[in-house]
Amino acid sequence: MSDIRTPPDNTLANRVAIVTGASRGIGRAVALALARAGVHVAVNYHTNEAAARDVCRQIETTAARAIAIRADVGNENDVSDLVRRTTDALGPVAILINNAGISRKVPLDRTGLQDWNDLLRTNLTSAFLMTQAVLSPMRQARWGRIINMSSIAAQTGGVIGPHYAASKAGMLGLTHSYAKLLAHDGITVNAIAPALIESDMIAHNPAIRPDMIPIGRFGTADEVADLTVATIRNGYVTGQTINLNGGWYMS
Ligand code: NDP
Repeated sequence: MSDIRTPPDNTLANRVAIVTGASRGIGRAVALALARAGVHVAVNYHTNEAAARDVCRQIETTAARAIAIRADVGNENDVSDLVRRTTDALGPVAILINNAGISRKVPLDRTGLQDWNDLLRTNLTSAFLMTQAVLSPMRQARWGRIINMSSIAAQTGGVIGPHYAASKAGMLGLTHSYAKLLAHDGITVNAIAPALIESDMIAHNPAIRPDMIPIGRFGTADEVADLTVATIRNGYVTGQTINLNGGWYMS
């Protein structure tokens, strides 16, 4: 057991991660970047099994192991099953990336309770359920890393709507509380707030254009993945929101 006063062992090789929503986009890039660092990865998906299996095949060309697991991360039973199957196949979970998310652009006057409930459940309740489900192994190991994939929408309101912005702002409160409560257990909890990253989520939305971004282009999923792995490697960063937005929002 490590002494709380000494810097922790930040070696990532052979640790076990769950990346939610890892079949596509940012989650896929994070899963592959973790594997390059030697982390064994559970590649969670909701509907896109073929894409998740393809991510696993790519991971298995490295020294890391992988398993594709279907789970709706807004569903408590699915979350329990995801964590149990990951542990059985790869070992106790040390790294959790709460990345799965949906956006739904609806005209403001037609945004209703169903939109609110769907986004809160998939984007925010999921992060709570997943975190609660991995606390025990992380505390036992006195080492854990949790990343919540928030959004610039938490800070500026964004371009989707109140249901999306509130779900992403909720992740910041979740990050602050868990970071404070878990700091003495060797577990860091941080949020990453990206905007606008090339992925299916922003494709075909005419309201989203690269000229909105001071840097003049969209970010890439690999840029988010690099920052995610760097944050995980650093045991002294906790409770932070790390922005990655081409200069669109400065803090
Ligand atoms: P994509 O739409 O490209 O991918 C979404 C991923 O989430 C897919 O793997 C999808 O699985 C999974 N998913 C959706 N619903 C569920 C569910 N109920 N249970 C499990 N998995 C689910 O999104 P991005 O890669 O663009 O976004 C990833 C995260 O980053 C999201 O949380 C998003 O809000 C956030 N973000 C993205 C930004 C961007 O500009 N792209 C900006 C700011 C934040 P499947 O393939 O099986 O459907």
